[in-house]
Amino acid sequence: MTSVARPLLHISAIRTRFVKVPMKFPLGTTAARMTAAPLLLIDLETKEGVVGRSYLFCYRDSGARAIAEVIREAAELINGMEAAPGKIAEFLGRRYALLGVTGVARMALAAIDIALWDALAVAADMPLATFLGGNLDPLPAYNSDGLGLMPAKDAAEEAIRLLEPGFNAVKLRLGHADARVDLEVATAVRAALGNDVAVMVDYNQGLTVPDAIQRGRALDGLNIYWLEEQIRHSDLAGYAAIAAALETPVQLGENLDGPDSVFDVVANRAADYLMLDIARIGGVSGWLRGAAIAAARGVPVSTHLFPEISIHLLAVTPTAHWLEYTSWADSILEEPLQIVDGKIAPPNRPGLGLQWSKAGIERCRAD
Ligand SMILES: [Mg+2]
Repeated sequence: MTSVARPLLHISAIRTRFVKVPMKFPLGTTAARMTAAPLLLIDLETKEGVVGRSYLFCYRDSGARAIAEVIREAAELINGMEAAPGKIAEFLGRRYALLGVTGVARMALAAIDIALWDALAVAADMPLATFLGGNLDPLPAYNSDGLGLMPAKDAAEEAIRLLEPGFNAVKLRLGHADARVDLEVATAVRAALGNDVAVMVDYNQGLTVPDAIQRGRALDGLNIYWLEEQIRHSDLAGYAAIAAALETPVQLGENLDGPDSVFDVVANRAADYLMLDIARIGGVSGWLRGAAIAAARGVPVSTHLFPEISIHLLAVTPTAHWLEYTSWADSILEEPLQIVDGKIAPPNRPGLGLQWSKAGIERCRAD
């Protein structure tokens, strides 16, 4: 008996839809206050009938519109080409090199890369995590919904509500104008949750180096799991100084642009932990390279947003640490992620397992 390979896939079209999804918990950080998440949904069609999907959180409405425009143009450039993510990344990387593969262009190309990998795993009838060599074991996740900048009493109440879906870890945003308020809020949240719940803290780049060290030392006794992005994301020397001065581990990486930038962080020992963002790191292809660089120095790697996509990548990350969970995409998905005992497993469905909710999309359509 001879075996016959499945047909290779060829790109025929890419469709995007812009939705603004109301957030269950509004999010105020040192950078912005949000009540709805601007998401761009991507459907990559192939001549063979397989559809690959991905989605992006675009930070701003203009981001979603600009990314959609780059995807529309890129789709024309790769129409008819084989669905080979590495080759497509190389091809589009050259086409967009002079514009600069960063920001909007980086996110657009990442969305295409993710959709291509999804299509390949769907065609193989395997979850992406297993297609890439991992398995479907549950991984530790923290609830990153809500807990924005707010008074101590409100933060303590919201922190307890965030455990309700089955979590035992949450993320708290700090960086109030007065450092004493930061301490007051963190103390209240710790007291409300008890010592067994992990509390991550994020400053969203709002501090200076001396301030970050001072505020970090003030929190050192509160058993905070990590302190994230205290200062401008690109100041690696500043981060190295902060990490050396504090007992609490320093986390950064959601703004690392492309996999090679991971090397700069680990070479400078700028952080104890790394958090990669699948859109900024270069999609699935970029993630695999970035995670390998972190693993070479044994740096634990967590995910940033897009939990439905990121969970498949965390499953194949050698130094896998935490999944960042938000419920933002729930209302546009037929089967949202399931949380069990503080853990989330990649779903046992082909590819990423993203199934759009038609009704949910209609309600939130913004383009
Ligand atoms: Mg962050």
